[in-house]
Amino acid sequence: MSRKKGKLYVITGPSGTGKGSICREILKDIENEFSVSMTTREARTGEVHGKDYYFVTEEEFLENVEKGNFLEHANVYGKLYGTPKDMVLKQLERGHNVILDIDVQGALQVKKAMPEAIMIFLLPPSLGELRKRLEGRATDKPEVIEKRLSEALNEIKLVGEYDYYVVNDDIDEAIAKVKSIMTAEKCRVPDKAKEIIKKYEMEQKGE
Ligand code: ADP
Ligand code: 5GP
Repeated sequence: MSRKKGKLYVITGPSGTGKGSICREILKDIENEFSVSMTTREARTGEVHGKDYYFVTEEEFLENVEKGNFLEHANVYGKLYGTPKDMVLKQLERGHNVILDIDVQGALQVKKAMPEAIMIFLLPPSLGELRKRLEGRATDKPEVIEKRLSEALNEIKLVGEYDYYVVNDDIDEAIAKVKSIMTAEKCRVPDKAKEIIKKYEMEQKGE
């Protein structure tokens, strides 16, 4: 019998909205695997190569583009980021859900390549709060923060392309909403019809 495939979840939204914070919670569930991206940006203090990102040179990144190794890739706020394809496909085959924390342009490329992906757009409660979060995180230089903020509204304008939106005001509520989306997706009939019917047929046959 072929094993049940996992689901691909794409979590996107402007930088500083809380994607990383929410993904960390969701990843506590052993069914869910994080897709580690490749990037040409510098590692922040505490970030680990192979866990947070694969930090590579532009040359290495472009070699991977050339070889067709990415499910999607994009220039985000002036640096290159990409999702390695092999790991995503392997994890899905193993029956794990795969979580992508990627930007809005990359997310739309994933939707084209894998229309079954479940697309979640995370929104900040306001642009003012987004600024506070980026400044409070204190991981990026002021000019990097300005660049990220200047893109936020353009990114939000693409929300209509997504399956779900979640406003990250209270973090616990936002986490609960994302978990509820994942629970609802588990209960979708199309993948499951045969499995559901079989269970009751076996019962009736006394098997
Ligand atoms: P992203 O991954 O989308 O760039 P982060 O998860 O790094 O965003 O969050 C940006 C900053 O905002 C972090 O300092 C994080 O602790 C904080 N943060 C996240 N969610 C909330 C929230 N609901 N309320 C207040 N601060 C938050
Ligand atoms: P950061 O530099 O703050 O870690 O990430 C900046 C932005 O790049 C975030 O919006 C993050 O979601 C996005 N990002 C991270 N990995 C990828 C990736 O593999 N592909 C794309 N398109 N965006 C990514």
